[in-house]
Amino acid sequence: MNARREPIGVFGAGYVGLVTAVGFAELGSEVWCVDIDEAKIEKLRRGEVPIFEPGLAELLERHRDRLHFSTSPRETIENARLLFVAVGTPPTYAGDADLGAVLSVVAEMPVSADYALVMKSTVPCGTGRAILRMLEEQGRSGIAYVSCPEFLKEGSAIADFANPDRVVVGEDGAGWAADAVCALYEPLGAPLVRTDVASAEMIKLAANAFLATKISFINEIANVCEETGANVLEVARGVGLDDRIGPKFLSAGIGYGGSCFTKDVSALKLLAANSGYHFQLLGAVIEVNELQKRRVIAKLGRHLGELAGKRIGLLGLAFKPNTDDMRGASSLVLASRLVAEGAHVRAYDPVATEQALVVMPSLDCATSVQEAVAGADAVVLVTEWPEFLALDWSELARTMHGTVVIDGRNALDADAVRAAGLRYEGIGLG
Ligand code: NAD
Repeated sequence: MNARREPIGVFGAGYVGLVTAVGFAELGSEVWCVDIDEAKIEKLRRGEVPIFEPGLAELLERHRDRLHFSTSPRETIENARLLFVAVGTPPTYAGDADLGAVLSVVAEMPVSADYALVMKSTVPCGTGRAILRMLEEQGRSGIAYVSCPEFLKEGSAIADFANPDRVVVGEDGAGWAADAVCALYEPLGAPLVRTDVASAEMIKLAANAFLATKISFINEIANVCEETGANVLEVARGVGLDDRIGPKFLSAGIGYGGSCFTKDVSALKLLAANSGYHFQLLGAVIEVNELQKRRVIAKLGRHLGELAGKRIGLLGLAFKPNTDDMRGASSLVLASRLVAEGAHVRAYDPVATEQALVVMPSLDCATSVQEAVAGADAVVLVTEWPEFLALDWSELARTMHGTVVIDGRNALDADAVRAAGLRYEGIGLG
């Protein structure tokens, strides 16, 4: 074992697992990474990157000698005592977190007090204690348990790993293991929240629920702005300068998406309900977000009338820029609703097309902005990729059939769009 830096094991080579692996490799650890997806592991062994995340490819290449990828946990367990769990916890049909992948990793864990399971996956509050109880009932107790929830943001995940707002380490007497996890993160100099397991689990859920609430709140303000003539950009600027509120997450748009907010807000709401508490606020946050995605349909209807037979160009598919992640993307709801109305949808995304076609194989995907926009009655900006912010609208306007541009992220240069003879409408701009 590396005497200077603790070697680590990582279960799950997805967005969180890979970023954790390369992040700790960059800090000097040997990393043994396991995934059940053979094709993904093969790619990683060949030096290919299975997901789009800025900076990931460079770090994978730089630390090829320290990063070991396998489909079998054996080598990982032989070489590391801290076993990070970064497998998915998608929603079940009931909306709770599906712990199936987490539990199959737990089943692989060695029965020995020399090892620790370090939970990066987002799990319901109470999971850590339930896992320890389960292991004890199975006569497999011994392994230490540390909750270390992940807060990275896709699109800036590498920078988030290197410069976290805080590191949360939850333990219920895990002693050496919690110390070892704290030591791993120590070089980053981030504020450390060392607490109990249940509180660590709840910090993650509460943080995501609060951020989602902020987005739904500003979206509701935007909708009231549309009724009253106020401009949500001005309102958010004025509100955000209050340092009790802060300027972040006050961008009105067509609703939050992604794998985390959607599932974690729902999981927290159900966790509360299953414990006998009705979390009213989160019900509203979810409903506002669903309605917000659909408001674009009403806007298009106001401009175009009947949508059946109309051609709509969508700019952006990923749930946000700088990622290829399509989980929970607002574009999916928008595209499906438009198709259901009888509209012809053609979409373009610089990175996420392949992933989008996995989820929605019938989607008509263009290979350029020009192709998505040509002949369109209306264009909707769905994802604010930087390349969409500098488009030549005069040139695009010449190829469009209609004149409507809906800016779902309030990110375009409204004057440039109008100067091209197009009708511009954002979200909550009065
Ligand atoms: P992901 O789907 O990108 O990756 C999960 C990986 O785990 C997949 O490659 C899958 O093949 C693998 N896997 C499944 N079962 C396995 C097993 N038994 N052994 C080994 N590997 C297995 O998921 P993700 O986005 O990285 O999220 C992982 C967890 O982190 C989730 O709980 C998520 O909520 C949480 N999280 C995600 C983010 C994010 O932005 N993506 C941020 C913070 C926290």
